[in-house]
Amino acid sequence: QEKDYQFMLRTRSPGGFIPPELYLTLDRLSQEYGNHTLRATTRQGFQIHGILKKNLKTVFASIIRSMGSTLGACGDLNRNIMAPPAPYKNRPEYQYAWEYANHIADLLTPQTGAYYELWLDGEKVISAEEAPEVKAARERNLNGTNLPDPEEPIYGQHYMPRKFKIAVTVPGDNSIDLYTQDVSLVVITNKKGKLEGFNVLAGGGLGRTHNKEDTFVRMADAIGYVSKEDVYDLVKAIVATQRDYGDRANRRHARMKYLLQDWGVEKFTAKVEEYFGKKIAPYKPLPAFKYQDYLGWNEQGDGKLFLGISVENGRVKDEGTFRLKSALREIVQQYSLPMRLTGNHNIILYDIEPSQQLAIEQLLEQHGIQISPEGIEPLVRYSMACPALPTCGLAITESERAIPGILERIRALLDKVGLENEHFVVRMTGCPNGCARPYMAELGFVGSAPESYQVWLGGSPDQTRLAQAYVDRMPIHELELFLEPIFVFFKKERKAGEKFGDFCDRVGFDAIRQYTVEYESP
Ligand code: SF4
Repeated sequence: QEKDYQFMLRTRSPGGFIPPELYLTLDRLSQEYGNHTLRATTRQGFQIHGILKKNLKTVFASIIRSMGSTLGACGDLNRNIMAPPAPYKNRPEYQYAWEYANHIADLLTPQTGAYYELWLDGEKVISAEEAPEVKAARERNLNGTNLPDPEEPIYGQHYMPRKFKIAVTVPGDNSIDLYTQDVSLVVITNKKGKLEGFNVLAGGGLGRTHNKEDTFVRMADAIGYVSKEDVYDLVKAIVATQRDYGDRANRRHARMKYLLQDWGVEKFTAKVEEYFGKKIAPYKPLPAFKYQDYLGWNEQGDGKLFLGISVENGRVKDEGTFRLKSALREIVQQYSLPMRLTGNHNIILYDIEPSQQLAIEQLLEQHGIQISPEGIEPLVRYSMACPALPTCGLAITESERAIPGILERIRALLDKVGLENEHFVVRMTGCPNGCARPYMAELGFVGSAPESYQVWLGGSPDQTRLAQAYVDRMPIHELELFLEPIFVFFKKERKAGEKFGDFCDRVGFDAIRQYTVEYESP
């Protein structure tokens, strides 16, 4: 008899968009075939865990028939495209970001019919039509190069050397961790708010392997600017460069960040320009990027409201008096609201009539959900953890299940040393793959051995600077011993208003180590 193999599936949801009928399907499938929870991911999709092999076809087919998809959410190809989740209807730059996130997701969708043959016995489902210019762009040759395969014009027969991650954002909005992506596009509009083109960054990536110096985290570099007419060709040119020159022999060296690192930005850009067929224009100046989470009630600009709900670790579940899963099901059933998932595994419900606000608020409160952002412990609000044990096969340590207790211990320690009002970005993962992007946190924990974590310090509150590894193995029972001297040093030597990550970056690790030694042996 065959074993009861369990699977995880992940949705393809560009910009985190989940229509109401898809949400209700996912909710039902997770009840009937999964582990009764849904997991909002850090790339704005939903995951269902614990699906038995014999149920896979039913589950996939149900998702596809509810206008959802999982195609390209995993594997060596373009993954879910991120975009800022705030559903502003009166800010054209946001509309452009979603529009192009959708279009580029379509552009880079594999053309194989195998997905539908496998899960729907080849049945054609009615899905949203792709824009004609996207289809034309996919089928257009790049600067005299042959299409690698008429059926798979962008990926060819062998797809990409490794996964590929793209985000589209707007100036100043870093809700999608733009420096961690293979490619990030930033919408550039003219004074009248009309789309002109995009700034382009490339070569970010966070996955690494412990004790392998040749694997590393890297922030994306500014590559230049492209007009809106040329953006698909430029994205294709970058994809083609990585497709043809990315390392296919060593998976640990296969992400595009290594190509950028090995070649340098200049050589990389020159190769992209060869495929593109023209020079890439200079990068346009931009305001500083800030992290935004859009929690609580907000106006969306057309008379309606949106509500950002903090979801600890992205886990949508019913547990004791906390009944987020039931609450969301009831709200979506009753009001048929769409949602957008955020890059920090939170959920935004939108298109809410002001007349529905009170009832929705009451319903959430009755289900034990805190909706006022001020009522959420800020360490929790700004934290992220990957699923790790027991559902991820790569996990070395706990993450999602451990972080609530760890944040409580950090809070108790901050209180003890007189930093009651302090908070910072804490991110944790169960292995160095870095799914919750711990390397951009002010305090990052990366599972390195059973019950032990590598600790990263010095990232910025807005995720615009990489953190650095401070110690390789901190046994988690020594958390207080480890952090107390660092917090005391921070309290004594910080500049007015300086954030923890900025402080660690400014003073440097030598000074922190020196202080820690003095603190422990005065
Ligand atoms: Fe699994 Fe590692 Fe990703 Fe966590 S970071 S979900 S342990 S692969």
